[in-house]
Amino acid sequence: MHDQGIGREDVGGGGDVGDGGGVGDAAEIGDVAEADLRTRRGVFRAVAFRDPVDGNEHLALVRGEVAGRAGVLVRMHSECMTGDIFGATRCECGDQLNASLDAIVREGGGVLVYLRGHEGRGIGLVAKVRTHVLQDQGLDTVDSATAIGLPVDTRDYGPAARVLRHLGVGSVRLLSNNPAKVSALESYGIDVAARVPLLAPVNDDNIRYLTAKRDRLGHDLPQLDAAVNGAAVNGGAVNGAAVNGAALNGARMDAGEAR
Ligand SMILES: [Zn+2]
Repeated sequence: MHDQGIGREDVGGGGDVGDGGGVGDAAEIGDVAEADLRTRRGVFRAVAFRDPVDGNEHLALVRGEVAGRAGVLVRMHSECMTGDIFGATRCECGDQLNASLDAIVREGGGVLVYLRGHEGRGIGLVAKVRTHVLQDQGLDTVDSATAIGLPVDTRDYGPAARVLRHLGVGSVRLLSNNPAKVSALESYGIDVAARVPLLAPVNDDNIRYLTAKRDRLGHDLPQLDAAVNGAAVNGGAVNGAAVNGAALNGARMDAGEAR
């Protein structure tokens, strides 16, 4: 009898998700419009919003019921026109976008937040293409930015946190290979219960890019080791072993890493 009351009070006192679901949310994400979006993967709820802080229009694609649930599968995807739309192979963005949506569909619920203003880790499309010239001359993804006086990464994940709160999502499993994204999202008050790897297949076009992301930007990309050993250069990783059911269910999750 005693413990029951105490438990209830404790939960009530820390109930961020439930308490944040009402007043103030619409103001937090600015102008917002929602509609069902029928796609070749089925129906998503499309939540478009103009973020009041960065001024960009972003889109959250929502599958299933996510409000109030713990450990919702979430991808914060930085826009990459060349990779996402045109299937460029010099980066793995398009593969990750498709694998994220597939994973969310398999899970039966989740959110993909498509973040505008993130081209080239924030330098913009023209500058990104300019770095491609330097990359074709041998510089990597980091040096090709700094060589023309641009920052390596200016991305802000505040808009993603704000739309997740708007959706009633306070606890996520984050589809990413980037530990810095975990801490960035947590700094905005979203609990990241786990990080779910999203390992795109390695090929001749992207291996230098992926290697630089691993060695210079701290991404966790174990498929590179397999590629060096000749095991994974077959394009099967996204649909195969790397982003499989075990990984999505958290088997590869490292709680220490996720923090
Ligand atoms: Zn890209």
